[in-house]
Amino acid sequence: MTSRRDFLKTSAGVGVGAAVGMGSAGPLLGAPAVRRSVVTPVAVGSGNALEAVATAIEVVNGGGDTLDGVVQGVNIVERDPGDSSVGYGGLPNLDGVVQLDSSVMHGPSRGAGAVACLEGIKTPSSVAMDVMRYTDHVLLVGKGAQRFAVSMGHQIEDLLTESSRRRWIEWRARMSDRDDYLVPDTAGPGNEPFEDEETYGLGILDSHDGVRPQGTINCNVINRDGDISGVTTTSGLAWKVPGRVGDSPIVGAGLYVDNDVGACGSTGRGEAVIKTCGSHTVIEMMRAGMSPTDACLEALRRIVTFTVEPRLRNDRGLPGFNVNYYAVNKNGEYGGAAIWSGARFAVCVDGEARRETSAYLYER
Ligand code: ASP
Repeated sequence: MTSRRDFLKTSAGVGVGAAVGMGSAGPLLGAPAVRRSVVTPVAVGSGNALEAVATAIEVVNGGGDTLDGVVQGVNIVERDPGDSSVGYGGLPNLDGVVQLDSSVMHGPSRGAGAVACLEGIKTPSSVAMDVMRYTDHVLLVGKGAQRFAVSMGHQIEDLLTESSRRRWIEWRARMSDRDDYLVPDTAGPGNEPFEDEETYGLGILDSHDGVRPQGTINCNVINRDGDISGVTTTSGLAWKVPGRVGDSPIVGAGLYVDNDVGACGSTGRGEAVIKTCGSHTVIEMMRAGMSPTDACLEALRRIVTFTVEPRLRNDRGLPGFNVNYYAVNKNGEYGGAAIWSGARFAVCVDGEARRETSAYLYER
């Protein structure tokens, strides 16, 4: 039998000093073996992060910080009224109120900050960054998060756009034919079908009402020195129960960054990601040597195994929703994967921002 003393001796021998409480950690067991001294900067994220990945690369190539790069990138989409999955224009909860979630992680300083159920602030990712930089906390929620945001100079604004209000009114009317809400006339400009599902693979397949809109933006970047940061920001699941928090602001679920290993973020059904500690799982798989794409696929397989509720399974017995992971490792290798085929992710490398097809577990 191995005694505790033997264990400590052996452990120290393989470099897990930190795990046994020694002062200097050294490389953790399983950190990627190959590390280039100079990395080609890469930004990777969700399909709607095309401008964000380009901005992140621009910032880090100009000598800016990796976290500033990704947050400036997603700020563009958060402020865009045309993107109904994030920030201003994001689809509201069942009361018609937009509640936003976001988290950030800064690899070199091991920093993390997050906000959940934040109302009235267009750029929750910037507030998450302020939580990280200006408080001793990691996660602020609801009214407290809003008060903190105002104290840092963020403006309270109405986040509902005409289009998002119209879609909520329509959804409310369609909920039941036994209430007093009438379905509005849907013809006319501004009422074009929502294209996120087709373009980015964001919507979830919902057994109750077809495709239930949702979306999120995730963006991760690694700079030339191998420093890494990431951000995830969202208005969450459309028509959610007020107060519901998804995976995006949960460190380890919708985002995880370990500066020794890489970064990962997610979009899709947050409940499934939270239950499997999704992004952290991907980082641990990469630490153990898997490529970003394989690590994402393996973490998705865990979600499939966890999905036992009949209401969440389709007629093939598989998850009736989608989850996407986006990852980059310490060497600048990147990948994206989803449960279902047809999703795409954004990447910027060597000066070119483009969308690539995500790997997947199942053909739609
Ligand atoms: N992951 C987000 C949430 O569950 C939604 C999404 O990405 O579509 O809040």
